[in-house]
Amino acid sequence: MSETNVWDLTVLSPDQMHELGIRIGNILEKGDLVVLNGELGAGKTTLTRGIGEGVKAKGNISSPTFLIARTHDTDSGISFNHMDAYRLSSPQELDDIDVDFRNSISVIEWGRGFTEGLVDSWLEIDIDRSLEDDVRQLRIVGFGKKFTNLKQLFGEPK
Ligand code: ADP
Ligand code: MG
Repeated sequence: MSETNVWDLTVLSPDQMHELGIRIGNILEKGDLVVLNGELGAGKTTLTRGIGEGVKAKGNISSPTFLIARTHDTDSGISFNHMDAYRLSSPQELDDIDVDFRNSISVIEWGRGFTEGLVDSWLEIDIDRSLEDDVRQLRIVGFGKKFTNLKQLFGEPK
């Protein structure tokens, strides 16, 4: 794994998590995928709400746990899929769900290990909530050409 595609950061509040989501959403394009990992209450859905705002998704973003997938329209016309893989037991099951990953933007909560080969470039975000109160430690890993220098992509000072 090359060094430039890993970004470690600390998030101090739900608001900051939402803001980060907006920044992520702002750079996402058709075919992009974000995988969110972290235990219940880590902030996956909070981050997804920000991402949804960044991609200008319409409608309310809530945990899709009992639905597996919810698709939102966006102002740009590209669909935004919010998925929850918690109840899925194999990548094959994800494949069986009729989502056109290459022509939309997707966030998959609990998606680790399910997404290899689905798209060319994706972000994998691990959220650790084992710190104090509202503090969350994040590791964002970029896969594929588009996400080789995350800090540059997100406009972080080097
Ligand atoms: P998940 O989808 O991972 O189960 P949610 O986003 O639904 O998590 O819930 C996260 C909960 O933790 C919310 O109640 C939120 O207010 C709270 N929280 C506290 N600190 C943070 C933080 N830094 N980032 C995100 N959520 C936080
Ligand atoms: Mg959730």
